[in-house]
Amino acid sequence: MNNLISLCKRRGLIFQSSEIYGGINSCWDYGPLGSEMKRNLKEYWWKSMTHSRSDIEGLDSSILMHPRIWEASGHVEGFIDPLVECKKCHLRFKQEDVDSIICPNCGGELSAPRQFNLMFKTHMGPVEDSSSIVYMRPETAQGIYVNFSNVQVASRQKVPFGIAQIGKAFRNEITPGNFIFRTREFEQMEMQFFVAPGEAEKWVEYWIQERLKWYEQIGIKKDKLRIHEHGKDELAHYAVSAFDIQYEFPFGWKEVEGIHNRGDFDLTRHSQFSEKKLDYFDEATRERYIPHVVETSGGIDRCLLVILIDAYVEEDERVVLKIHPRLAPIKVGVFPLVNRDGMPEIAQKIAQDLRSSYKVFYDSGGSVGRRYRRQDEAGTPYGITVDSQTLRDNTVTIRERDTMQQIRVNINELKNQLEVIMANYMRDKGFILDKTNLFHEGVDRG
Ligand code: ATP
Repeated sequence: MNNLISLCKRRGLIFQSSEIYGGINSCWDYGPLGSEMKRNLKEYWWKSMTHSRSDIEGLDSSILMHPRIWEASGHVEGFIDPLVECKKCHLRFKQEDVDSIICPNCGGELSAPRQFNLMFKTHMGPVEDSSSIVYMRPETAQGIYVNFSNVQVASRQKVPFGIAQIGKAFRNEITPGNFIFRTREFEQMEMQFFVAPGEAEKWVEYWIQERLKWYEQIGIKKDKLRIHEHGKDELAHYAVSAFDIQYEFPFGWKEVEGIHNRGDFDLTRHSQFSEKKLDYFDEATRERYIPHVVETSGGIDRCLLVILIDAYVEEDERVVLKIHPRLAPIKVGVFPLVNRDGMPEIAQKIAQDLRSSYKVFYDSGGSVGRRYRRQDEAGTPYGITVDSQTLRDNTVTIRERDTMQQIRVNINELKNQLEVIMANYMRDKGFILDKTNLFHEGVDRG
């Protein structure tokens, strides 16, 4: 983890927030490469969830919402962790994390547990009194439930259908840590799937398989993923059944995403608290009911951590991030072998031409070996080098990051060749070759 964290800083993936002021606990900033990678990840999730299907609609609801929402959702009452505090060093721990009354930090005596609500509160408007309290949303899901009817009517979707949303969430976590694994401000990618009563368990099974497949499609090793079913004592207040997709982090198997059967809890509660009908008339069966909800709830930051850990490899002479090309922040590095004989001009032109399709990085500083190493650390899948042979026959080398193998191609064929190499990469890894699987997304190849 320490090596990965220092690589993230060195290469501009992730910085500690407010670093020049000494940092702020559990907050992180995504640098030039990190922000690019995060966008790629969100983009791919969005495409898989919405564009590639006809039964899921997108939503972008606000972070601050009516405070009654959090009463209806059970968060005001139930989003609490019992905390114990050390009487000597005053550190606080989740009760579930300590198994005796001895402080794991200093050996002092721990207090009796106290309830602690994880929601951040703030005030709306100029007067800070109890009537102006609003909460920073601790999950994006509630914005979806309260818009269920709006979306259903506007999009003319029929149950079963889903609503997907990506956005920030805030939790005043007691034990944040492990880099971006658990933070107090983070992003979620959530999808709530509305189904007929009695159909939920079938859909839970379906979504477990779909989501597992998705993690494999972004290149995560299969044997590092597993499903954990929640026992009765682990279930959240709303859940009928719950499954975690877990990844084997260096600090153990941990949740990356939850797939939950939430029954009709959410829509029923919002209907009661708002006194608005949130039911659905099923034309096929002529029945009226409150839909049940199956959710897939993942964290963007936590998923990024999985990708980075999974991709991080220390080899004899180099450190390399073997990130799936689709997610790599920079797709192609372009290098002149030396800074003379017209090579920089040719390389600059190649870089500029490729920029219409990919995020490209031009680098002429230091030996070409050093330049390759820098791009290996940044996870750049392909490096293109202009050398003396280029001047004779208009060919360049394409170097592949993982194998370090090089092929020569004509500059006029460069774009096509990159496509072919990428398609082969996908095929070798067993990916389905559809349009969204290609790394230069958003460009119609006709
Ligand atoms: P944790 O493993 O932190 O106890 P949780 O069970 O509270 O998570 P959920 O409420 O199911 O998590 O949230 C869904 C997803 O949101 C999690 O699988 C995780 O990817 C992400 N997530 C939740 N809390 C955090 C956090 N504090 N920091 C980063 N990601 C988070």
